[in-house]
Amino acid sequence: MAAHSLDSADLAPAWLEIPADPNDLAPGLWPANTTRAADGRLSLAGIPVDELAATYGSPLYVIDEADFRGRAARTRAAFDSETARIGTSAKVYYAAKAFLSADIARWVAEEGLYVDVCSGGELALALAAGIPAARLGLHGNNKSLAEIDRAVGAGIGAIVLDSLQEIDRVADAAARHGVVQNVRLRVNSGVHADTHDFLATSHEDQKFGITRADAPAAVAKIRARGELKFLGLHCHIGSQIFGSAGFGESAARMLELHRDLLAGGDIPELNLGGGFGIAYTRADDPAEIETLAADIADQVATEAVRLGIAVPVLAFEPGRYISGPTTMSLYEVGTTKDVSVALPEGGTAIRRYLSVDGGMSDNARPALYGAQYSARMTNRVSAAAPALSRVAGKHCESGDIVVYNEYLPADVVPGDRIAVPATGAYCWSLASNYNFLGRPAVVAVLNGESRLLVRGETETELLARDAGLDKK
Ligand SMILES: *Cc1c(COP(=O)(O)O)cnc(C)c1O
Repeated sequence: MAAHSLDSADLAPAWLEIPADPNDLAPGLWPANTTRAADGRLSLAGIPVDELAATYGSPLYVIDEADFRGRAARTRAAFDSETARIGTSAKVYYAAKAFLSADIARWVAEEGLYVDVCSGGELALALAAGIPAARLGLHGNNKSLAEIDRAVGAGIGAIVLDSLQEIDRVADAAARHGVVQNVRLRVNSGVHADTHDFLATSHEDQKFGITRADAPAAVAKIRARGELKFLGLHCHIGSQIFGSAGFGESAARMLELHRDLLAGGDIPELNLGGGFGIAYTRADDPAEIETLAADIADQVATEAVRLGIAVPVLAFEPGRYISGPTTMSLYEVGTTKDVSVALPEGGTAIRRYLSVDGGMSDNARPALYGAQYSARMTNRVSAAAPALSRVAGKHCESGDIVVYNEYLPADVVPGDRIAVPATGAYCWSLASNYNFLGRPAVVAVLNGESRLLVRGETETELLARDAGLDKK
């Protein structure tokens, strides 16, 4: 037995196949307008992305605007047509926490979506961007009194109540402002889903919402306050969900509760939340939104007939499904290392580390959740064989990994550039200043033109908050 294996594939996870061409762009993984230009450079909407990095800096988030708008429009159209088919209509909210800037908020509003915000800061951004307050929803399991007051005062379209305390807090704010505030009530359907499975229980151990058992008393309390109008129930069963079954089960449970509550008065809507999954690697196979919308509508229609009730207006809250696939992150490779790793079955294999100029400060998801990503070289194509590579960040943390496992050409060297696709959700919005790195800029590309959406953070801005540096 050889004690030393040069075959780095020994370290690859089972789901990761060795690509025939480590320069290829897997379908469904990259923003829609990603291509390889004739010279091999990776381009987005006609612009080589390396030119964007040269202009705007590296690391950089690059959004395919046409893809973003297209996914927003497609998602709305899918829920519009599937709810029309079962005799009702849909309200589609973009979950802004996935990725929010003024232009992003405007794009989704222009494509006919509502916008969900989860804090005073997100609310302030959406309002400053010119989104009408009536098109906004406010979430959060601990909204401050100031956040509630500001939202009610601005005329927010709906507030999702998340606790018994909030009923009086929102009603009191509505009384102060002399308005009737639309509210939903967040309930745990008892269905919790992740990528491949869902779990249906009677109790869920989590901080969001209230139990189904407690819902009738909470709704009675809402209805007893004349300053509140009860729009309906809300649930959200998880995130990065690939199939329809968990949504269907949750919808059935919520409709049953909805039916019970109809005895106390009209309920116009039911909000089934978000969580629709996307592909991060070529092993991911999420259902498309048209399929999910059709399956959920079928389930709702069937249950409504069984329960003998009218189908309410259905609301949905996709975040990741809209923004995630539309964006790539750009990095430059600074150092490379071939590390000899002991194999469980004996012997060793080589793991190649490619360290880039960003990391967990611009994409915390691998460190936070063990999230998997993919990568390709952007500045050239290479005929070198695929080598199992790990893209690491530059932070002082061994868990600072951007892409755990990807086959890249074996000849990647310092100065080469790398793009990571599907970074349009929960990357920029979770970015930090760890190690005093400035958060990267966000650029949109459309029809061969690029445009800055968010400036990168400068060192001056980073130092400006330190009171110890104030001029005496
Ligand atoms: C985060 C969140 C969403 C969006 O989730 P995605 O997985 O991005 O679709 C929708 N609704 C609520 C209440 C959320 O907290």
